[in-house]
Amino acid sequence: MGVEAHEGSRVPEGQAIHRLARIASGFLAGRVVAASSPQGRFAEGAARLDGLTAFHAQAWGKHFFMPFAESRTPTAEPLLGDDGPAWLHVHLGLYGRWSFSGPRATDVAGAGLRGGGNAAAVPEPGATVRLRLEAEDLAADLTGPARCEALDGQGVRAVLARLGPDPVRNEPGDRERFVTTIRSRRAAVGQLILDQSIAAGPGNIYRADCLFRTGISPLTPGSEVSPERLGALWDDLAATMADDVDSGVIRTVPPDLRPEPVPEGDEEAGRFAVYHRTGRPCLRCGTTIVEKDLVGRRLFWCPGCQR
Ligand SMILES: [Zn+2]
Repeated sequence: MGVEAHEGSRVPEGQAIHRLARIASGFLAGRVVAASSPQGRFAEGAARLDGLTAFHAQAWGKHFFMPFAESRTPTAEPLLGDDGPAWLHVHLGLYGRWSFSGPRATDVAGAGLRGGGNAAAVPEPGATVRLRLEAEDLAADLTGPARCEALDGQGVRAVLARLGPDPVRNEPGDRERFVTTIRSRRAAVGQLILDQSIAAGPGNIYRADCLFRTGISPLTPGSEVSPERLGALWDDLAATMADDVDSGVIRTVPPDLRPEPVPEGDEEAGRFAVYHRTGRPCLRCGTTIVEKDLVGRRLFWCPGCQR
């Protein structure tokens, strides 16, 4: 079911959810939406959204939020967690996916979504569709999410309270919060980055490659990495992830290190610096890339130039 074979079994990282929010907003925002749960497991939640107007969706890390309200109110776009609208909250997890279909759908691709245009009519939903949102010749079908719920503002704020700053949002104070939190912990910095309460959004690829890009060893305890280097790491996560929102493709190899042409048998080097490159030479120093299991996730790094 993966869009790309080697990414098929990964949870989409935060940049993919920001992209999803943008695409879903393009199709649905400002329109009255018919909501249903063909599978039945979200029947009650869908009934809360049915017949309301969709407003612009937002992402926070790997969490997707879309507000729905009577079209007369609110007059302005709701702020994330506002009281008033009904909020659709989705976490795709490993298997969740949005599919867009119908005459108004355009071709979209990327982690956690698919879509195809050219249909003459909105097709009947499959039996596994947890939620269908339909508006004017377009259907958005959600299958297999880890979480799908309708929340009020307080419910949204409760979700956000458990999440750290999101590098793609990169709001004032986020950088300091990230640096301070990591500096207060003894665990390996490579482990801390994947803690969604410390940074919301980064997954295994950005973890590996942004540490490489900033030259930090993932095994160094958080408390032993200088504030300057952690600040640089935050800035790199923010810039790299934001860059990938537009394309939907993660490309984390630094442009000046990208081999040209990409060596046969090392195709990952065209996209990634150390991720999935175990046993290959480091693009910066030639040392062999290594991997180890860290708290159940594969961690990749260069022992030569990451200190
Ligand atoms: Zn190296």
